[in-house]
Amino acid sequence: MKILIVGGAGYIGSICTELLLDEGHQVAVFDNLGEGHRRAVDSRANFIIGDLADRSQIEAALSSIGPDAVMHFAASALVGESMRDPSKYFRNNISNGLNLLDAMVATRVGRLVFSSTCAIFGPPERVPIDETAPARPINPYGESKLAYEKILRWYGEIHGLKFVSLRYFNAAGASENFGEDHRIETHLIPNVLKVALGQKPDVEIYGTDYETPDGTCIRDYIHIVDLVRAHLLALGAGKSEFYNLGTGDGSSVREVIAACRKITGRKIDIVEKPRRPGDPPRLIASSEKIKRDLGWQPQFESLDAIIDSAWKWHQKFPHGYGD
Ligand code: UDP
Repeated sequence: MKILIVGGAGYIGSICTELLLDEGHQVAVFDNLGEGHRRAVDSRANFIIGDLADRSQIEAALSSIGPDAVMHFAASALVGESMRDPSKYFRNNISNGLNLLDAMVATRVGRLVFSSTCAIFGPPERVPIDETAPARPINPYGESKLAYEKILRWYGEIHGLKFVSLRYFNAAGASENFGEDHRIETHLIPNVLKVALGQKPDVEIYGTDYETPDGTCIRDYIHIVDLVRAHLLALGAGKSEFYNLGTGDGSSVREVIAACRKITGRKIDIVEKPRRPGDPPRLIASSEKIKRDLGWQPQFESLDAIIDSAWKWHQKFPHGYGD
């Protein structure tokens, strides 16, 4: 298939581009390089620099490529930042995302795979969280993604858009060539590995008084390659759907740090800090629906395997993409 990856220079988009190319698809990447990196774009892909804020740019890209499907990864995705700057989240994730949908309608591109998030749910009544759980986000990031999911439903109904929305839990790990390099790193695993590399003095633990066994937040870390494989399966989905995507297992912040100590063999100091606003205590996915409907099956279910792949990548590229 011919696929346009919007946001293909970012962490998840870059690895999705790589896997699609490995599978023999034709891939074009559209990215404004605001968060992404030129070097994160696989050299086999056709790279178009452009910004979703300008509808004419995405429309021109869609017209010239004529893709069979679009994958949309271009968004702001930090819970903490969204609590300080909600406007950025509503603008980038909703308004700019709407430019993509309108450009797709105008150019008659009818299939989309969308990066959604478990942050649409907020603190769950029960875990694992399946697709029937009520969506009650507690941060603007989750709210912006939930709004976009609702927009997708209407574009499906009115314009016939076929979409699959994948609610990621915590994407982590790396492929051999591509990994996680954010200009300002807020995510737990890369921050712990930066301490292991001697680039940061210690890991800050945000909150040790949660109602969890060790007092720190629990998340469902899913290997990036497993997560990306779900996108490939979504391309063949017969109908529009929303799927939760995680491993069904949770690890606390302290457990992640302990696993990083074990895998790296390095000293990793910690500092206990107050809670980070907007963080739900425990998020674990039920991915039964995508397993049933699309035959998705994670291949890297252990936290150790995920951290091991991230550690290999960070050792190979200690300064990330270097820009
Ligand atoms: N966290 C932490 N220290 C860090 C980064 C994150 O204690 O340096 C915690 C964060 O508060 C959350 C969990 O680790 O409970 C996962 O955070 P991350 O930012 O990686 O992903 P999120 O779940 O926010 O998408």
